[in-house]
Amino acid sequence: MNARANTRKWRAGVLGATGMVGQRIVNLLAEHPWFELTAVAASERSTGKTYAEATRWHLERPVPERARGLVVKDLEPTLDCDFVFSALDSSVAGEAESQFARAGYPVVSNSKNHRMDGDVPLLVPEVNAGHVNCIPLQQKNRGYDTGFIVTNPNCSTAGLVLALKPLADAFGLEKLFVVTMQAVSGAGYPGVPSLDVLGNVIPFIGGEEEKMETEPQKILGKWDGNRFIDAGLGISAHCNRVAVVDGHTECVSVRLKKTATIAEVQEALRGFEISEELAELPTAVKHPVVVHDDEDRPQPRKDANTGHGMAAVVGRVRECPLLDVKLTLLSHNLLRGAAGAAVLNAELLAARGFLKSRQAADAPAVEEVSL
Ligand code: NAP
Repeated sequence: MNARANTRKWRAGVLGATGMVGQRIVNLLAEHPWFELTAVAASERSTGKTYAEATRWHLERPVPERARGLVVKDLEPTLDCDFVFSALDSSVAGEAESQFARAGYPVVSNSKNHRMDGDVPLLVPEVNAGHVNCIPLQQKNRGYDTGFIVTNPNCSTAGLVLALKPLADAFGLEKLFVVTMQAVSGAGYPGVPSLDVLGNVIPFIGGEEEKMETEPQKILGKWDGNRFIDAGLGISAHCNRVAVVDGHTECVSVRLKKTATIAEVQEALRGFEISEELAELPTAVKHPVVVHDDEDRPQPRKDANTGHGMAAVVGRVRECPLLDVKLTLLSHNLLRGAAGAAVLNAELLAARGFLKSRQAADAPAVEEVSL
């Protein structure tokens, strides 16, 4: 942990602030002890309006006071903030994120565009915090000064790798088979038409299976100082959209490298605890995998908000007749899978000294914060 005292909150901007993920980030920043929202940006549809006017707000609590009156800006990299979260549609995220990084802004992205770049961390702090060590090489490769890009994974991968990490550490992983049932909020707004999804299952989500078959390889793999080395897992993913609002459910079968009993697998999952460094991050939960014994859990309506939506909730851990062990997994796609994951990533970057103040030296301090 970086023990240096910081004199003010980090000033955060949100690109794509009006969307499903963006507004979750805005909401999480409302009471954040280290970060304060100072800028929002979105498409031409929204620019020039206040945030409250531009946003079709989907959360139960009202638009945070701090955000209401902010005027929505375009994607020019001249925002009044120290770093940006990106929750942009992928059609514009790739270029916009590069422009912000080039202009000196750390970019903490939810979008797919840079996830698999060879010098960009695909970060899940509980799993691969050490991957942030590739940032200096990224800056050197791309000629960035204080800017850089860090990404979080696709929403189904986020929960999956949390449950896989303790199994990888204890027994090693050989291959896995996963079938998802993904919530409609994972498709953004307005997303999937109600007449397509109500009373129905759609057995296709564009690009999702490919992401689930590649992203865990990078996250569970290693950064060797020069490049990422894949975990070398065999992964087969089937992705389905179902009429659930929030929370992606995944049925997972795993082949382990070492033989283990079901009791040992449950013990490994239950015993997964974050490091002391991560325990100091405001958004982290001590046990990011929560194991249920009830035979009919996890369920999206009952369990998606476990651990403030940051936990992977696991149930039905049992023997698999084809591979070794099978289980059901649930995680909140907009929190663990997007906004919460990005905020946690930004906290790790702050704690490790990767954020720099872009404020003029004579600007008034906003608030005393000690990391
Ligand atoms: P969304 O609800 O459709 O929001 C998209 C955002 O991008 C809006 O703020 C929109 O602004 C902005 N935008 C669209 N076109 C733009 C343009 N040409 N220029 C500037 N801004 C533009 O989507 P979302 O679900 O929040 O997803 C955002 C990103 O996160 C996507 O890349 C998505 O793949 C990723 N993601 C989503 C989830 C999830 O569970 N939803 C999970 C993980 C990752 P306007 O409102 O002004 O149009």
